[in-house]
Amino acid sequence: TPVTIIITVIGVIAIVALVTVAVLQNRPVPQKYKYGIVLDAGSSHTALYIYAWPAEKDNNTGRVQQTHSCKVKGKGISSYASEPLKAGESLKLCMQEAEQKVPRKRHHQTPLYLGATAGMRLLNMENSKASEKVFQAVGAALQKFPFSYQGARILSGQEEGAFGWVTVNYLDDRLKQGLETIGALDLGGASTQISFVSDNYDGSESPSNSVTFRLYGNDYNLYTHSFLCYGKDQVLRLALAHQTQSGPTTILDPCFHPGYTETKNYSVLYDSPCVSDRKPLEDPVTFIHNGQGNFQQCQEVVKSVFNFTTCKYSQCSFNGVFQPHLQGPFGAFSAYYFVMNFLNLTDTSIPLETVKEKLTSYCATPWKEIVKQHPNVKLSYLAEYCFSGTYIITLLTEGYNFTSKSYSDIKFIKKIKGSDAGWTLGYMLNLTNMIPAEAPDTPPLPHA
Ligand code: AMP
Repeated sequence: TPVTIIITVIGVIAIVALVTVAVLQNRPVPQKYKYGIVLDAGSSHTALYIYAWPAEKDNNTGRVQQTHSCKVKGKGISSYASEPLKAGESLKLCMQEAEQKVPRKRHHQTPLYLGATAGMRLLNMENSKASEKVFQAVGAALQKFPFSYQGARILSGQEEGAFGWVTVNYLDDRLKQGLETIGALDLGGASTQISFVSDNYDGSESPSNSVTFRLYGNDYNLYTHSFLCYGKDQVLRLALAHQTQSGPTTILDPCFHPGYTETKNYSVLYDSPCVSDRKPLEDPVTFIHNGQGNFQQCQEVVKSVFNFTTCKYSQCSFNGVFQPHLQGPFGAFSAYYFVMNFLNLTDTSIPLETVKEKLTSYCATPWKEIVKQHPNVKLSYLAEYCFSGTYIITLLTEGYNFTSKSYSDIKFIKKIKGSDAGWTLGYMLNLTNMIPAEAPDTPPLPHA
């Protein structure tokens, strides 16, 4: 009857009102946030990160946190060398998402940065005009959005390594408290970085590997190195180039699964400054890439892309690059994590010998089996996990000199407290002066 309906409606309204009052009474005063956006233009893809922090200066206690990330569809911006406008267009969807995620009122005061890494370093070496055009297109596309655009540039390898280190130590609250720091291991598609603090290292032996910081009243002398061409995609090219050196048209590759067979293009393989000088004079158009699935032999192939013979310093990692004694815990992120997570090998309490045994059996598994076991994994990634896992273990042990004992000092990580490990957060913290050189509780100097 109409009376029952009216009573029900009044009842519902009363309940809604009561709940609203209760919720409002319990709700703390709404916190206001500020935002920053960083685009990581990597060699294989671009990712957008939104960071937020409390707007009120509450003695700098609020940590900056990642509130959103967006993976740009398609390849990295360096792949648009011959059609630069598309590099700009590719960013649109993620940028529109950022417009939705950052409150409208804050748009104009939200700094927006784009940093490009080794993919663009290589394009810039190969064809600087093309790289300029990509940056022009990307800059024009980003300026169409309402954020405070702060520019797009290539980070040096040193910056990439150092900001990755700042990120992990900031997120893990190591800096403010002056605790022992965590080293950072970053693996991309085109370069790889190692950064750590070592007590008996003062930076004088190889100044180009040294970065000094004063953060929250503590001085840090950071060792960092970025190996261009030693990201996992470029190392795969180096390994294939090594195997095609003698000019066979069929490669029996121990780093790929038995039964894997693909016809590949020579010019695509050599189309990178990392390998172009190794290109044979008379090369066929294609080669056949056949898997053999042998971890030990794969390790030999991978070792052949490192040079261990020259070192003018007291000690080196590889390729004549100085490296002080490894010290302390390490966080290994980006492709280190993707690969080791896929292989179920993120647990570094597993002895290194067991890791090698697992890789041996994984690599030896026929390609057909692998495909059957992982129907939802992209085939291009799937084909390469044996190679990538072997590369990671070889880089860490033979390259950087981690031992069976110190291997457990490494943690394979993706995120720390909800924010991705990578250089972007450290980059933004630096550019927005968000990490003070002096401890925040230092009393201000008296006025003269
Ligand atoms: P970059 O684009 O330079 O940051 O490099 C990222 C690297 O990680 C590239 O080698 C990508 O192919 C690789 N990568 C990204 N996602 C995955 C994944 N799910 N599995 C394996 N490798 C990945």
